[in-house]
Amino acid sequence: MPEVVITCDWTMMSNHHGKEFLGFGTTTPAYILPEGVYKRLFFPDMPVDENGFPRQAPYGMRKIEASLMDAGFDARIVHPSHLDRYMPGQAKLLLISGHDYFGLNPPSSTFGGVMKKETLNCVNFKRMLTQPAVVEARKRGLKIIAGGPCAWQLAPATRFKLPWIQEFVDSFGGIDSVVEGEADLFVKDIVGKALRDEFLPPHIVLGAKEAPKVEQISSIRFPSVNGLVEIGRGCCRGCSFCSVTTRPTRWYPLDKIEEELKVNAKINVRKGILHSDDVLFYGSPNIMPHEEKLIPLLQLAKRYYQQVGWSHVAIATLMTKPKILSKCAEVLIDDKQDWWGVEVGVETGSPRMITAAMPGKVAPFKASQWPELVVQAAGLMNDNHVFPACTFIVGLPQETEDDVQRTIDLIDDLWEFKAILVPMFFVPLGHLQSKDWFRRDRLSPLQQELLKRALTHGLRQSKRMLNDFFDWEGHNTKLVRGAFRGFIGFIELLAGMHGLTSEPTRPGRPIVDPTRTPDRLPVPTIPVRE
Ligand code: SF4
Repeated sequence: MPEVVITCDWTMMSNHHGKEFLGFGTTTPAYILPEGVYKRLFFPDMPVDENGFPRQAPYGMRKIEASLMDAGFDARIVHPSHLDRYMPGQAKLLLISGHDYFGLNPPSSTFGGVMKKETLNCVNFKRMLTQPAVVEARKRGLKIIAGGPCAWQLAPATRFKLPWIQEFVDSFGGIDSVVEGEADLFVKDIVGKALRDEFLPPHIVLGAKEAPKVEQISSIRFPSVNGLVEIGRGCCRGCSFCSVTTRPTRWYPLDKIEEELKVNAKINVRKGILHSDDVLFYGSPNIMPHEEKLIPLLQLAKRYYQQVGWSHVAIATLMTKPKILSKCAEVLIDDKQDWWGVEVGVETGSPRMITAAMPGKVAPFKASQWPELVVQAAGLMNDNHVFPACTFIVGLPQETEDDVQRTIDLIDDLWEFKAILVPMFFVPLGHLQSKDWFRRDRLSPLQQELLKRALTHGLRQSKRMLNDFFDWEGHNTKLVRGAFRGFIGFIELLAGMHGLTSEPTRPGRPIVDPTRTPDRLPVPTIPVRE
C-alpha cells in the first residue's frame, strides 16, 4: 500500500462523460442550480478499485506516478474520496496536482470574475485538502508537495499577492514545497528527500535546462483520463503570454506512444486524445506539418482507438499545408467516427495584437493575414469534420479598443462556424508574468460586447453540435443529450433575461473549405526555412 499518495480534486478526477471538452464546465461557478447538477453534467465520479485507485487518472499525474514507480517508490494515485484509507497513518507524503487550483487561470478567472463566485474547480480543490483525514494526517507529520500546471498559484509569490490563498494554506497546516515545470526527473529527488525527512525547498521552478529528454520520460503504467496520450512537449511559437513556449520541443517515437495506447486499450478505452501543443507539428523540425510523420501517427492511434481527438492545433500550422487536414480525415473518419475535436488558440482578431504579443503565432505568414487565415482555417476544419474550441484573450496588456473591435468583427465572420468560442481574461503567465491580472471591473463596454457575442455564438452552435457531440451508443445517450439541451436552454434563458446576448450587425461569412471553393481567397503559401 502506497506511502506516497498522489491526488487531485474531484473536478479533475473525472472523464467528463468521455468528452474532455466538458471539463470546461468545471471552470464555472455553480450558478443558481445546486452543485450536484453541475457534477452530474460536467464531472461525474471516476470509478475506483477496491483500494480506491481510480480506473483512469489525469495524464500528467500518471506520468509522475510512473516516474516514481520506475524509480522504486511505493507511490499510487488515489481518488480524492478515498484518501482516508491511507491517512492519517500509512501515507507519509501527499503529492497534489491541478489545472487550476483556485480558479485563477483562464477560463475560470473569466467565468468566476463575471459571475462573482468561486468556480467549481476552486471549491473542490479546497474541499479536497480540508478533508478531516488530510488535516489530521498533516498534524501528524504528513508532508505535502504541490505540482501540476497551476503550481504557480501556490507559490510563495502568489500567496504574498493574494493573502486569501495563504489563509487557506494555513487552514490545513501548510505546504512543504511547490514545484513548477516538468518534474519527471526532479520528483524522484524531492520525494526521496521528503521520505528521508530532509529539508525541502519551499519553491522550485524547473526550466528548460531541467526538462527531461524523451528517453528519460517514463511511460504511464495505468490508464489516463479519456485515453489521452502525449506525443510530444513544447512549442516554438513564443507567444508572450504562454508558459509552454519556455520548454524545448521534443517528439516521442511511435513505439513510446504505442506503449501508452496499449495501456488504455487494455481496459477497453476506445476513444482517446493525442496531446501536444500542436498535433500537426508531430515529428517536424520546423513549423510545417510533416505528413510522413503525422499520418503514421494517426494510423497508429486508430489501431487502438475507434475515435481519436487532438488536444491542440495552431492555425498557422494548418494553413501552411491546408490539404493535410483532408488526409488526416481520411484516416480518422470512418463508420466509428464522424468528427473530431481540438483546441485552437485564436486569441485575437487584430493583426496589431498579433505583432505586439504573439508574432510567432502567425509564422510563416504575415500578421496582416491573421483574420483571413482564421476564417479560412475555420472552413477547412468544419468541412473536414473538425469542430474545435477556440480561445480568445480579453485584456492583454497592450490591447486597445480598436483591437477589441477587430476581434468582435472576427467573431461575426465566424458566426456560422461550428465551434465553441471561449473568451478568457488575460492571466499573467509566460513572459508577461510581471503584469497584472485582467479583472471584471476593468471590462470596457466593447469588451462586454465581445463576451456577449461569444456567448451568443456558443449557445447557438452548442445546440447545433449536440447530436454530433453525444454520439456514443449507450442506454443513457438520450438522457445525457436531453440534460445538456435543457442546460443550454436554461443558460440561454438567463442570458436573455440579463441582457447578455448579442447578435452580429452583419451576416457572417460562409464557413467552407477554401481549398475546395474557388471563389474564396487563395490559401497563401509561404516557404519555410528548413
Ligand atoms: S502557439 Fe499556443 S502553445 Fe505555442 S506559444 Fe503560442 S499559445 Fe503557447
